[in-house]
Amino acid sequence: FAPWNDPGVKPFIEFRHVTKRFGEFVAVDDLSLQIYEREFFALLGPSGCGKTTLMRMLGGFDEPTDGQVLLDGQDLGGIPPYRRPTNMMFQSYALFPHMSVWDNIAFGLRQDGTPKAEIKARVEEMLALVKLEKFARRKPQQLSGGQRQRVALARSLAKKPKVLLLDEPLGALDKKLREETQFELTDLQMKLGMTFLIVTHDQEEAMTVADRIAVMDQGRIVQVATPAEIYEQPNSRYVADFIGDINILEGHLAPAPPGSTRLECAATGANVEVRQETAAPTGGQAWFAIRPEKVRISLDAPTDPSVNAVRGEVWDIGYLGDVSIYHVRLSTGATLKATITNATRLVERPITWEDKVWLTWSHDAGVILTR
Ligand code: ATP
Repeated sequence: FAPWNDPGVKPFIEFRHVTKRFGEFVAVDDLSLQIYEREFFALLGPSGCGKTTLMRMLGGFDEPTDGQVLLDGQDLGGIPPYRRPTNMMFQSYALFPHMSVWDNIAFGLRQDGTPKAEIKARVEEMLALVKLEKFARRKPQQLSGGQRQRVALARSLAKKPKVLLLDEPLGALDKKLREETQFELTDLQMKLGMTFLIVTHDQEEAMTVADRIAVMDQGRIVQVATPAEIYEQPNSRYVADFIGDINILEGHLAPAPPGSTRLECAATGANVEVRQETAAPTGGQAWFAIRPEKVRISLDAPTDPSVNAVRGEVWDIGYLGDVSIYHVRLSTGATLKATITNATRLVERPITWEDKVWLTWSHDAGVILTR
């Protein structure tokens, strides 16, 4: 499933040069984005980056100051929320406390004047979908947080919108329940074949649920890509740093053979070479970014002369259950992090505090970034 790579497939949702100002403040800044039918798409970024505002413009709760929002080729400008083929599930998913689960789910359909028999069929379908058939008669306060969240989801799906908008839908749930619900959400989305757009500041959540992620900063999109691309091939320090743990080392671009990029790096005291094309000129400032799990740590000197290698001393070890994270101080005073899975750490010769170690990584294990 990768319609974004198929030039024959038309985008389903389009933001065209959309700007949203609140007075002087620019919340969304000349932003263009295309989302495809049946996609689970995540808007990810820190608080205040404009992701909710962007979603609200698709739902019709805010109008752009400039630019257009289209759905299925139709300009949505001026169309009120209730007439758009979208439905939004809000952060607080306020359910009507005096109504039963059944009535909460039926509410929107009744408002639309849907025939009674159809309402019944639709509510039953939704209750089955979120596995709450047995709870139809209960009031929201008689449910757990996770169950309430599923009622809200059923309510927002009952009218079968073409696009479901989810604004931090799992924010109120504890970690374990949130993870379970993330899998339920992706399962549901696939079953329904619906387009889902989620707003979140939680990178793990975006990585778990989404087909593609747009990482936002100050009203703009910095990168749009699949979770794996965002993680492995971040296009900037901002994205690299926002997603997961990473080592970022500063340097200057040095001449390199075709197909590779070389960074003269004071922190490692050696050149770092990466298999990657770079258009940026020699001498320019750049950064080498590598995930801790891509850095191999060993007591033995590398036998393969082609790998990147530096020496250092272990000065801290953080035990995280599945992995241990080693902080290794290099002779330059810089620190690099490397992880070892604890499953292997227990069987191999253990590396411990103050050990002199080699850190090595291959030429395709990191990226050189120029911004
Ligand atoms: P959060 O995760 O905190 O909701 P966000 O990325 O979703 O953050 P938005 O809610 O889109 O951010 O807000 C972007 C910026 O626009 C913020 O600085 C916010 O204060 C501002 N903003 C949003 N709505 C309004 C409004 N109605 N009037 C004035 N400023 C607003």
